[in-house]
Amino acid sequence: MGIFNSRGVKPAHRKHTDNQKAVRLENVASVTIPMRQHIGAPCTPTVKVGDVVAVGQVIGDTEAFMSAPIHASVSGTVSKIAEIRLANGEKVSAVTIKSDGEMRLYEGVEKPQYNSVEEFLKCVRSSGLVGLGGAGFPTHVKLKVPQGKVDTLVINAAECEPYITTDNRECIDNTADVIDGVELVCKVLDIKSAVIGVEDNKPQAINALRTEISNRKSNIVVKALKSKYPQGAEKVLIHSATGRVVPMGGLPMDAGCIVMNVASVAFLARYMRTGKPLVTRTVTVDGSAIANPNNFRVPIGAFMQDVVNAAGGFVKEPKKIILGGPMMGNSVSSLDYVITKTNNALLAFDEKDAKPKKETACIRCGRCVSVCPMKLMPASLEKYQRCGDAEGLENGAVLNCIECGCCSFTCPAGRQLVQSIRLGKTIVRTAQAERKKKEEAKG
Ligand code: SF4
Ligand code: SF4
Repeated sequence: MGIFNSRGVKPAHRKHTDNQKAVRLENVASVTIPMRQHIGAPCTPTVKVGDVVAVGQVIGDTEAFMSAPIHASVSGTVSKIAEIRLANGEKVSAVTIKSDGEMRLYEGVEKPQYNSVEEFLKCVRSSGLVGLGGAGFPTHVKLKVPQGKVDTLVINAAECEPYITTDNRECIDNTADVIDGVELVCKVLDIKSAVIGVEDNKPQAINALRTEISNRKSNIVVKALKSKYPQGAEKVLIHSATGRVVPMGGLPMDAGCIVMNVASVAFLARYMRTGKPLVTRTVTVDGSAIANPNNFRVPIGAFMQDVVNAAGGFVKEPKKIILGGPMMGNSVSSLDYVITKTNNALLAFDEKDAKPKKETACIRCGRCVSVCPMKLMPASLEKYQRCGDAEGLENGAVLNCIECGCCSFTCPAGRQLVQSIRLGKTIVRTAQAERKKKEEAKG
């Protein structure tokens, strides 16, 4: 990991919406809110068809620790509870609410109170917050660290994926919330220092944060990072922002760090002030097929079609639609999917931009190896996946792949390396599960 600066790739930034403050999207006819939008156990609906709900009311929850509650994002009537498919292919139960157009706030929404770390973490859980950068890791779980294990809070404002500008806007438009959130987490968890990592192609965000910090005489550091993908990947960011290395297979806390996305930390500050849970998120809508690219503040569960309509619809026929960024997002075949807590972008491309590279035989150039931030050998992993070689994949540390897409991006032969590696991970996980079963049967 120590040599990341010589690794990674430099895709064109294409941050066309950099100067566009998020516009609120409220007039949706209905929302369909999935019961799992996070890593961990799905929630069970706590409402039934016909119930009248208000914004911020819990509509799904679970006893499981690794999870986060789900709240209504519009006021109205529950019209359906059924299984839907998410953009990543996963099937989940979802609650549909027909909006009454009033966006009434739930009367139970009130400023959270806490007197201990334990109570603070309960409040964080109640907010429904999960990593807004895309990972969806429940924040109350992330912040539960053994005392004395963490001395640095690292804030991820790198936003290295092309097109996406939501974190940049968070830094510019909600600067005080960002710094409030950082100070809050450091104070409650007794963390001594904080670094906000921002790529150096976002000077306005860097200036706004530094000005706010100096006005408060705070000791938070804003570090301008080289604009290079995947600068925002957790382990890469820790190294770039602090110089520390997370051991292979280890967690950020093994390097004394907690990493939070900048939008997550700003949300937390607002939640602790108001008690309004996570019911919206900012989404960048862009790409050559979109009429008016912009940033939108979208109710969770809104349909992609409503979001595209808000951006003026399509100006050209879309040949490729992606929920998320071009490097790590999921390609979808229609606009029938919904926005979840982890979706930061919706991109649509015309024929010219959607054309895939022609796939030809590997020429053993080694470029995929030289750009991999995890020091893996993507071409070999692809070969092992094609042969179904679980041992080769496991020995090649396929599970360490962060699916950043640098290898596919750089491959002159157009090999679909990330897709093969994802399948390779499934082969390894299946083999590991079978091994475990056999061992358990042996007693
Ligand atoms: S970059 Fe592509 S062509 Fe070059 S070694 Fe890797 S898979 Fe083969
Ligand atoms: S192998 Fe995984 S971590 Fe390495 S470049 Fe490819 S996608 Fe990224």
